[in-house]
Amino acid sequence: MKLFTVGPVEMFPDTLEMSAKQLPYFRTPEFSEVMLENERLFKESICAPEEAKAVFLTASGTAAMEAAVINCFTKGDRLLVIRGGSFGKRFGEICRIHKIPFDEVKLSFREALTKEKLEPYRRKDYKGLLVNLHETSTGQLYDIDMLSEFCKENKMYLIVDAIGAYGADEIDFERQGIDELIVSSQKALALAPGAALIAVSGRIYQDRVLSIESGSLYLDFKQHIENMRRGQTPFTPAVGIFLSLNQRLRQMQRTGIKEINRDMHRLACRFRKEVVKLGFAVPEYPLSNALTPIVAEPHAERLYERLKEEYGMVVTPSGGELKTILVRVGHLGNVRWEDYEELLGAMEEVRHGF
Ligand SMILES: *Cc1c(COP(=O)(O)O)cnc(C)c1O
Repeated sequence: MKLFTVGPVEMFPDTLEMSAKQLPYFRTPEFSEVMLENERLFKESICAPEEAKAVFLTASGTAAMEAAVINCFTKGDRLLVIRGGSFGKRFGEICRIHKIPFDEVKLSFREALTKEKLEPYRRKDYKGLLVNLHETSTGQLYDIDMLSEFCKENKMYLIVDAIGAYGADEIDFERQGIDELIVSSQKALALAPGAALIAVSGRIYQDRVLSIESGSLYLDFKQHIENMRRGQTPFTPAVGIFLSLNQRLRQMQRTGIKEINRDMHRLACRFRKEVVKLGFAVPEYPLSNALTPIVAEPHAERLYERLKEEYGMVVTPSGGELKTILVRVGHLGNVRWEDYEELLGAMEEVRHGF
């Protein structure tokens, strides 16, 4: 089986080797050292300034999205959510459950987020914007500079779910004025699912986190940030994932995050050209480097099934109303051009059967 998914993805040999090893006990200076280095390298990889804090959760990405909301906003605030797919919808569900008022900028499939779409939401006293920088359910990459400017003009905090964008698309926490940035282990980091990383700006920490009752024990940032001063987490962390994270962050630093983004961009562009030659369509909206969405209406589900059953190649199927319309081919993790050549060959054969 070869994974062309968005998470879990094909892992690197170092990660696989590490996962077979006995885990150490974690309340030790040695493990603290690793976590402090994780914090430093993570912040460096997103260009976060010294005063930004890092929170390491043992949970999937959705818990980090929920934590980001409940630690910084209350029932007395109003939020704006970009809803361009299933992950945007999830931010709304989180607000609803926690009774935080919100409005949605809704996009239909194939619709790009533009300045005009944001226009009606200017000067409306929103406290913050919740956005999935790469809406992974469609592959759309939003214009972070446009959103950043919108937030500055309207005095809103900028909360970025970068789970689908980290390691694929350019991120500059400081320059883009991001207040919380969320990353999860199973996407570009190519680790096992179960760990999430959140960077918290100095200003949102001082002005919101410190004074807000999160209403949660496990997800409370105050405890996490206090513990991280000495490189520890309040509860037992996913020790193995955080050790592997250290390997990956070091490797990414050696290669350079810009180079990683650029290589993924090249690979994605090359793949998209070939996909179009096969007669499939790629949507027009701006795309993340993390994946290529392929319109194969009405055969998308069958394309996914046949690639998996007959060729052992797993692309990412879609859910809901996109189920028969879209498959997504991931460019994350340990995959190289030769793998895509094989995938394209298989796609061509399957397509002849439609
Ligand atoms: C994968 C992903 C998530 C996280 O989902 P989990 O299943 O909870 O890990 C959240 N947001 C985006 C944009 C994603 O791509």
